[in-house]
Amino acid sequence: MKITRQAFFRLSGLAGLAGAARKLLAAAAPKRWAMVVDARKCLRDQGCTKCIQACHRAHNVPEFGEPKHQIAWIWKERFERAFPSQRSEYTAETFKDKPVLVLCNHCDNPPCVRVCPTKATWKREDGLVMMDWHRCIGCRYCVAACPYGSRSFNWLDPRPHIPALNADFPTRTKGVVEKCTFCEARLAQGRPPACVEACPDKALLFGNLAEADSEVRKLLRARYTIRRKPELGTLPQIFYIV
Ligand code: SF4
Repeated sequence: MKITRQAFFRLSGLAGLAGAARKLLAAAAPKRWAMVVDARKCLRDQGCTKCIQACHRAHNVPEFGEPKHQIAWIWKERFERAFPSQRSEYTAETFKDKPVLVLCNHCDNPPCVRVCPTKATWKREDGLVMMDWHRCIGCRYCVAACPYGSRSFNWLDPRPHIPALNADFPTRTKGVVEKCTFCEARLAQGRPPACVEACPDKALLFGNLAEADSEVRKLLRARYTIRRKPELGTLPQIFYIV
């Protein structure tokens, strides 16, 4: 079939419109972001910190060199400490005393949000528990309320302690609380969180729980997972394959 130049441009214009409409619909679809950590895969290289480095580099997380001042958005914790309610004398040898990757759980029922007096932290409709560093008055109620130790407080000016400044991400100041934001800026560009992208073993999967056919939903259907301290009713949205 012969197609005129005019008809070709008309058709490609329509295709472009359809593509734009598809993108708009996808953006408007309900979302509930979550992460699945395959703790077994993660254990294959216990010394690997690629995800931590990628996250901290991307977000200008300072390195103070002293544990009492340390700021952490994502870190490794001993299994027994991360999952105290799973601990028993029969804890599988696979995880006994082994490191597990932990970060803010972007809880569905976040106690940190409830206690913040200035609304510097809040939960978005897509589940991300956010921080506005300009509104934070440093009261640290959220630090006390988080049962997972996911929030860090800047006791010192963090800026001189940033190893390599990322000019595309804001820095914080002394007296401000910070934590993982699930890489909301990257999500807005359709990119996965920095930690997920950096994992060489694909041990981290990020996705939309509101979409029945998303990869995270499929993985959660296929594999048994646990969450940290489920008895507290905070409803963490980080799931662990163990
Ligand atoms: Fe808040 Fe802690 Fe839950 Fe993150 S893990 S949402 S900081 S209570």
